Amino acid sequence: MTDQEIVQFAKKLVDAGVQLNAVYEPIGCQFGLRPSDLVPWLKDRDGFFASECGLDKPEYVAWKDFMAHGRPCGAQTRSGPCRRPVKGSAGLSPQEFARRHAEGTLLCSRHLKPLERPGA
Ligand SMILES: [Zn+2]
Repeated sequence: MTDQEIVQFAKKLVDAGVQLNAVYEPIGCQFGLRPSDLVPWLKDRDGFFASECGLDKPEYVAWKDFMAHGRPCGAQTRSGPCRRPVKGSAGLSPQEFARRHAEGTLLCSRHLKPLERPGA
């Protein structure tokens, strides 16, 4: 099938009442696909969702890895990176992940404390 045939077929399905849903992999959120979304989604799933989220693909992929690997804090400790989950990160959206990554607050409650109370 050509890309154009795929879009035409998807339109037929949608016109017949078939829903096209895709899933944000790590958190299981449903996303309704338009027929025109199908080809970009089939070709580059992560790139498609990154653009839907208004993020760069590397940011989206970093969010997926973070969610899939237990949302680790990653602060350096004497015994290696901290593996405790980041505070308030259950169900963290890709956008919220990117914002907290940029501000450096993807940390567990123990490692966030020095940031919340500077000098403490
Ligand atoms: Zn930590």
